[in-house]
Amino acid sequence: MRRLAVIGYPVGHSRSPQMQNAALRELGLAGEYEYDRVEVAPAEFAARVREMAAGEYVGANVTVPHKEAALALADTAGAEAEAIGAANTLVFEGDAIVAANTDAGGLLRALARAGAPRGGRALVLGAGGAARAAVWALARGGAGVEPLAVDIWNRTAAKAAALHRELGGRAELGGEAVERPRAAEYAVLVNTTAVGLRGEDPFAELPLSRDGFAPGQVVVDMVYGERPSAILAAAAAAGAATVDGLEMLVQQGALSLELWTGREAPIEAMRAAARGGGPAL
Ligand code: NAP
Repeated sequence: MRRLAVIGYPVGHSRSPQMQNAALRELGLAGEYEYDRVEVAPAEFAARVREMAAGEYVGANVTVPHKEAALALADTAGAEAEAIGAANTLVFEGDAIVAANTDAGGLLRALARAGAPRGGRALVLGAGGAARAAVWALARGGAGVEPLAVDIWNRTAAKAAALHRELGGRAELGGEAVERPRAAEYAVLVNTTAVGLRGEDPFAELPLSRDGFAPGQVVVDMVYGERPSAILAAAAAAGAATVDGLEMLVQQGALSLELWTGREAPIEAMRAAARGGGPAL
């Protein structure tokens, strides 16, 4: 058996096992590969990954809080993972651990599917791990999405400025760190903050207002749950196109699966499994 897993701390909530095992069944690879979840505390992360690579595992997804550690322990890394400073995918090739970042490509694929605008400005809310991949992806473009000028807003403003400086040194961001953005002016809005995870009101915590969205915008909320987030519900009501966190999960997972198996990912089967077979959110 070739084993795959999502490694996190905690990781019990992850929908990756149901989604990736559905994909493996759809590809006729279920007897050959199996995908599970591995909960590892930060102090044991590096040793555990080396043990997995030396055993039956051929690869892994890596989630909070291990994405930076995953890049650090890899023997080689893709250009995107290096530039973003984090890896969400590991491929074990013999003795070598190879790191990749499919969060960036996954966001671009999800945007392209929603009908990404050609040109204009993007606003990324947040300056944590998810924001790094989003800023990099939007500034570079790809998957049919043109590069956009990227502004960054964060509750702790100094972190937005630091992220802008750091990534701006590696990519043409064209935008700036902003403290009072006017959301309606952006072609693309991406919420990468954790706001909404625990029921917080995004319109109280973020520089967004319920009636501040416009038709023609694409609005992305990386937080995922059973129902559309308050941000996406308001954006859709205003006629904006929306991308939810589950679609991003599906797209990054599809790219990871392609790295491990060399096969084209069965996106529909993955989407259905990630959404629990229920209606599209
Ligand atoms: P992180 O590194 O811990 O960053 C958290 C961010 O949220 C920071 O910018 C923080 O601002 C901000 N924040 C937290 N509480 C806030 C509040 N009450 N008001 C305003 N800002 C607040 O986390 P991360 O790894 O970037 O992940 C962020 C979210 O994205 C999580 O919900 C995660 O599940 C989701 N995610 C989804 C996918 C997907 O595939 N769908 C992929 C990656 C991440 P400060 O700097 O001011 O603290």
